[in-house]
Amino acid sequence: MKSASQLSIYIHIPFCVSKCRYCDFYSTKYDSSLAELYIDALAVEWDLVCREKQLTEPQIVTIYFGGGTPSLLPLKQWQKIGRSLLSRFNRDSLIEFSVECNPDSFSAELASLLLQLGVNRVTFGIQSLCDKELRAAGRVHNVQTALNVLHQQYLKNFRSVGVDLIYGLPGQSIDSLSMTLQNLTASEYVNHCSAYELTIAESTAFGRHRRIFPFPDEDSVYEMTTVVIDYLLQEGFEQYEISNFARKNHRSLHNETYWDHRNYIGLGCAAHSYLHPYRWANVSDFGVYLEKISGNKLPRSFSEFIDTETLAKEMLFLGLRRSDGIDTEVFEKRTGKEFSALVDMKKIEAFISKGWLQYRNSRYLVTPSGLLFADTMARELF
Ligand code: SF4
Repeated sequence: MKSASQLSIYIHIPFCVSKCRYCDFYSTKYDSSLAELYIDALAVEWDLVCREKQLTEPQIVTIYFGGGTPSLLPLKQWQKIGRSLLSRFNRDSLIEFSVECNPDSFSAELASLLLQLGVNRVTFGIQSLCDKELRAAGRVHNVQTALNVLHQQYLKNFRSVGVDLIYGLPGQSIDSLSMTLQNLTASEYVNHCSAYELTIAESTAFGRHRRIFPFPDEDSVYEMTTVVIDYLLQEGFEQYEISNFARKNHRSLHNETYWDHRNYIGLGCAAHSYLHPYRWANVSDFGVYLEKISGNKLPRSFSEFIDTETLAKEMLFLGLRRSDGIDTEVFEKRTGKEFSALVDMKKIEAFISKGWLQYRNSRYLVTPSGLLFADTMARELF
């Protein structure tokens, strides 16, 4: 194999029951025959990428099915994924295999099939455990459905179980957020939490009708951020990235691949890939994606060369958002430049004296209070 001995794989499943009001990910309504074509296309795309990049049986270290709603696929389509796509991967070195699920489309049968396919991590798009907030967000499930899933014993068979949470939703209060957090962590199986502040993209229903929704004000959202952090830390989770919390040994290794600039291939419409020093993205249109693949063409929408300066900026930006911070030895190895030659060291010293960074063993670690100011540090440095 020429350019990558170890790889991660992201697979985008673009089907959803309906569109959530905050969502700007690419998704379309589920249709069984289109899903069949799509699964076939994913396998063809993998073969095309391997041919173009001259990858011969790369060792796959993490696999992540995201969406969309991967759990919406019926069992027979998951079996087909196993036969036509997963069978193509060399999984001898696989350490993590994650699937994003929604509570309304999860079942004991699906859990059992995913385990048979080698899945060892599931994450649930819970977002809130308050029915009023779920309705406002346009989610399909309700609190009862979410809680039923999170307490199912079969979850113990997965190595890790994660939940996604959004705060800053219309009508949300500190009390309702605290209640959501308590009920989430009451499940003994949950050991990872991704908690995102709501961002409103213009293309979403929230963006188009911003004025009619009672969004909490900026101060309340800031308070919510601190409530989430304080609560999860007190519950024994580690904040290893600005929006990601894990119990010991339950970090998302796949996400760390992105943040570490390690190689990954994204398959499916709207998927992104990085094979050093190139990054590219696939088209965000289901029809165009299928058409390209049926003509044996890669469905690219853009591709870029990552030069040293861009790589250095990205490593800094992503490092400042992680408790592990920036490893200067890795930084220098990857960029070929000295850390102090590319970064304003006076500013780094100022961040250390404010208690936002700590220097240890050639690494600038980001402290819990530093994570709150990650964007400020990045703005000042750039
Ligand atoms: S289920 Fe997820 S991907 Fe689908 S519309 Fe809702 S937020 Fe977006």
